[in-house]
Amino acid sequence: MTVRTPYLGRFAPSPTGPLHIGSLVAAMASYLDAKVHHGQWLVRIEDVDGDRNVAGADQHILASLQRCGMLWDGEVSWQSRRTGLYQQALRQLGELVYPCGCSRKEIADSQLSLTGRQAQALIYPGTCRHGLAPGKNARALRLKVPQAPHCVLHFDDRWAGPVSQDLTDEAGDFVIKRADGFWAYQLAVVVDDGAQGVTDIVRGADLLDSTPRQLYLQQLLGLPRPSYLHVPVVTNELGEKLSKQTGAMAFDHGAAPQQLLQDAMLPAARLLGMELRADHIDAFWRAAVPAWAQVLRNLPNPR
Ligand SMILES: [Zn+2]
Repeated sequence: MTVRTPYLGRFAPSPTGPLHIGSLVAAMASYLDAKVHHGQWLVRIEDVDGDRNVAGADQHILASLQRCGMLWDGEVSWQSRRTGLYQQALRQLGELVYPCGCSRKEIADSQLSLTGRQAQALIYPGTCRHGLAPGKNARALRLKVPQAPHCVLHFDDRWAGPVSQDLTDEAGDFVIKRADGFWAYQLAVVVDDGAQGVTDIVRGADLLDSTPRQLYLQQLLGLPRPSYLHVPVVTNELGEKLSKQTGAMAFDHGAAPQQLLQDAMLPAARLLGMELRADHIDAFWRAAVPAWAQVLRNLPNPR
């Protein structure tokens, strides 16, 4: 008898608009990965950024998942109802957290000499690390990243292969509670995955860059490290990430199943490297599970 490693995956959409082809690709990959590994699949609504939430988008996304035949295990969770957990994690981080009084503009001005990717990411120069300057008010809370020696984190992404990032140079002390009072994504996602016991994270490659910050938080909070698989993000011919803002990726979730397959599910599967044929939704999933297992066999890292 073989003993399987328990698998708990999740799909964690932000309720900023309806599910579109790009987010459907991520949902489909995480759902299929859970099915292939005989695991469970949770849905968590990442509504921690209160300014970006669109009323009703959470229910719309859940209805789309159901119509596509992606049924989750257990209860759906909402980050906005879990702030007690984030507060507790903040206490646990203790003296590694400090208040920062810098505006975005001040951080940008301090690094005009940087170019390209580093400047875009606005790496914090550590201005308030040793206390707020007189006259400054605390705006955000930041987490100290070790300076000497540098904090370099490595992980093996199942799709992208080995990834390493020097947090000291490439991220700097990062925000865990924002100036607008909302919890930062980095903290919320780590705390939730830890609290829910998520073992396997399958999501879009736009989050690959922030994974090392999450690994660092996991270490500090004593949480186990999940396995990661970042699927390529759907881009347009200019290489720009297609998002709900572009409108190009929308699909009508109320369409008849046949139409939903043609307009959304089969194209999403194709973006994951699966050429499927199916004329109804059950048949789609019967074909997609073994097709995903085949995709996995060609990846750099097995689970
Ligand atoms: Zn500061």
